[in-house]
Amino acid sequence: MSNVKSWYQMPEEEVFSALQSNQAGLSAQEAKARLAKYGYNELKVKKRGPVVRFLLQFHNPLLYVLLVAAGVAAFLNEFVDMWVIIGVVLATVIIGFIQEGKAESSLEALKKMLVAKCHVLRSGETQIIATRELVPGDVVVLEGGDRVPADIRLFSVKNLSTDEAALTGESMPVLKDTEAIPRPNLSPGQQKCMSFSGTFVTRGRAHGVVVATAKQTELGKIAGIMEGTIRVTPPIIKKITAFTKFIIIAILGLGAATFALGIGLGYEWSYMFLATVGMIVAMIPEGLPAALIAAFAFGTIAMSQRNALIRRLPATETLGCTTVICSDKTGTLTRNEMTVVSIYSGGKNYRVSGVGYEPTGAFFLGDRPVDLKSADNRDLADTLRVGLLCNNSELVKNKDSYTIKGDPTEGSLVVAAAKAGTNGTSARLDEIPFEADQQYMATLNQNGKENLICVKGSPERVLARCRSQQINGEIKPLQPEKVLEEANIMASQALRVLAVASKNVNSDCVSINHEDLKDLVFLGFQGMIDPPRGEAIEAIKHCKTAGIRVVMITGDHVETGKAIAAQLGIGDGDGRALTGEELQAMSDEALYKEVEGVSVYARAAPVHKYRIVKELQKHGHVVAVTGDGVNDAPALKRADIGVAMGITGTEVSKEAADMVLIDDNFATMVSAVEEGRHVFTNIWKVILYLLPTNVGQGLVLAAAILLSPLIPVFALRLPIEPVMILWVNLIIAIACGIPLIWEVKEKGLLKRPPRNPNEKLANPTFIRKVGMVSLVSATATLSMFLAYTHFMADSQNFLAEGQTVAFTTLIMVQVMYLFTARSIDISAFTFSPFSNKWVVIGAAVTIALQILLVYSQPLFGISPFKTMPFPAIWWVPIILISVVGFLVIELEKLIMRRKNKKSDH
Ligand code: ADP
Ligand code: MG
Repeated sequence: MSNVKSWYQMPEEEVFSALQSNQAGLSAQEAKARLAKYGYNELKVKKRGPVVRFLLQFHNPLLYVLLVAAGVAAFLNEFVDMWVIIGVVLATVIIGFIQEGKAESSLEALKKMLVAKCHVLRSGETQIIATRELVPGDVVVLEGGDRVPADIRLFSVKNLSTDEAALTGESMPVLKDTEAIPRPNLSPGQQKCMSFSGTFVTRGRAHGVVVATAKQTELGKIAGIMEGTIRVTPPIIKKITAFTKFIIIAILGLGAATFALGIGLGYEWSYMFLATVGMIVAMIPEGLPAALIAAFAFGTIAMSQRNALIRRLPATETLGCTTVICSDKTGTLTRNEMTVVSIYSGGKNYRVSGVGYEPTGAFFLGDRPVDLKSADNRDLADTLRVGLLCNNSELVKNKDSYTIKGDPTEGSLVVAAAKAGTNGTSARLDEIPFEADQQYMATLNQNGKENLICVKGSPERVLARCRSQQINGEIKPLQPEKVLEEANIMASQALRVLAVASKNVNSDCVSINHEDLKDLVFLGFQGMIDPPRGEAIEAIKHCKTAGIRVVMITGDHVETGKAIAAQLGIGDGDGRALTGEELQAMSDEALYKEVEGVSVYARAAPVHKYRIVKELQKHGHVVAVTGDGVNDAPALKRADIGVAMGITGTEVSKEAADMVLIDDNFATMVSAVEEGRHVFTNIWKVILYLLPTNVGQGLVLAAAILLSPLIPVFALRLPIEPVMILWVNLIIAIACGIPLIWEVKEKGLLKRPPRNPNEKLANPTFIRKVGMVSLVSATATLSMFLAYTHFMADSQNFLAEGQTVAFTTLIMVQVMYLFTARSIDISAFTFSPFSNKWVVIGAAVTIALQILLVYSQPLFGISPFKTMPFPAIWWVPIILISVVGFLVIELEKLIMRRKNKKSDH
């Protein structure tokens, strides 16, 4: 090892020659050839194979109980029962396997939509490529917020620091340089001229050459670090699992008691054993988990179709509980299509005409057009020129429109300069890139015999570095208060204001640092409009009815923030706004008292965002927060739902987020909230539909055993066989329960208050619905069994026929319940039964299969479910009683609607 030189020990030239590359990067052809040789730059996440996944489906306490039951049945020579139980276990496992596979592949597809990207130089041209296509020898450009895409030897850096916590555990950012270090055997943390895959850039800029990709990287060598979506179980599934475990324990206790009682009553012990097993399996909701997982997968896909990508599954559920949305302003609430409309320079206020990015327009003083060649307006000309020099954006002419390549804020300065015919062909020597917490950017340009420092940024920050002001080409003392007042006036008209300043330096000055930006000459302000997004205004209205408060957190000026908030309808025009500075001075307690009333935070830095989220959560809020920068990651992680921007967001922010907005649009977030509420209502419907089946059957068996001393027929035969119960559980879950997932959105999802995320599963609605429906179904089943065995006692097989009648009643009540279970509170008579075709198909399939089961003895000569056909006339009372059950449940809804209406007034 020690005789082989490591990359960090080699000087730049040696690295390049070893990699057969150069500063301009590889050619596209060479990159392609290397990709074929080295393979994709990605760490394969070990996926569980299908066999393992299938076997894992058996790992489920519910199924253990069933398997024991099958064993008991075999022991009692009840082989039909045994096979049916095994069949049910297999069916449950297969459905779980298929549903999980579907959910997994849909999440996989979502992950693919979020391709990690990086900037490379290929044949001297900057390109954005997918990180997985990176090869050794590629030259990479790193910037603040980037995730380092491979292991890289740096050869040009500008204030580059990286966070290497993922690799070294060291949480302080490390400053990088390009010097080779001769000492051997340094740990990655000590290799200052290297940047490693998986770490991220906190600030600065750099060029480096890729020395290792994929498994060859330091990260790749550490096993167990995985990228991408972290799958966490949604809270509702956890609650259901806990609930079913509780059921099992309760039922085992109840089963033992019933068994003892049954023996005491003189039943045959083997019969009692089977009855108890039947009761236990009756109460287990085998199909429920599979149905819920399907509902989540389906909801996640629906959200992605509305441009919201879910990265963590629980977010799908939490979204519906959101009570506060904290949003960025620029690009999310506004269109991020900046146009300079007003310029202050040389003590004069100019107006700029023209719309959008089209570089046609003129400059006016009052109503008079001005001549930019005239010496009177040289301050304006200089303001425009420096705005153009200190700029990384380009105006691009398409066929019949203009677009901006780069940041729209900067683009608007390019357009303004183009309207004046200014060109910016002064070579750039150095640059300090824009960073949100600095709020400025600076460049060093050649300017004749001298060099020129050009600065632009927020008025406060830039003016703090100015000592004088240019008026009519002359340097005058700066009156900062008076000038800042001009910026305030522009800001209160909803304009985003950038200050422009410059300074001549000697031509031997060829690089600049933050310290060099002092004693600048203030040139002027450029004020740009950024119209609110129309759909954001609509979405904010929806938030109001949905009980969600919208808070704007912006880096922009407080007056700009307030003016835009008013246009958007944020904060009811109460005008309460806090600046980052004020917030900084506040204790957590003081901020806690304020957060409920403030709707606009201005000049806020990412650290402030974190504090705001924290204090809102202390009030019990469920907070969704947007972010795009590298420093937003803590706030995104802290929030209940961290939301990253798909277009402008950094790789780091996307990784920290629970959800990514593909179109950066605020309205998308509100759609996602709506979808979140939709998914949850459907999940809730499935639960309220399926659980009563289980509880109802448990009641039937318990009642029969308990009442057998009084009602002799129960001592002869229980109303339903365990195998029938298994069939009911299975077919009802698959054919009737799962279709509820496709239930269309109810109107007014955004007119209800948010759900409380801490609400218990067994809330009043749950207890009322499950209790009532179980009672209805148990009563119907028992009475039909009693009626048949009473009136048809002369029939030879009256017990088996009575069971078949009870079995059919159970199914029919549940099928009828399906049509009302499609809404928890809305009357089933107000929507068409055909608006969800799956429900109709599911019901039809269930009934058709039931008919086959009832007549299986005469049709096929066997009856695996121990059924015996009953006289056809008995279908009439079965159908009647299930319709009555339906009406009773509808009546409950009606009463609840009346009651809720009253409590609303
Ligand atoms: P926002 O929350 O509106 O996105 P930013 O954090 O992007 O705000 O910007 C904060 C401030 O920094 C702006 O109000 C502006 O004064 C300044 N600024 C924004 N973009 C640039 C840039 N490209 N160059 C210089 N200054 C900028
Ligand atoms: Mg911004």
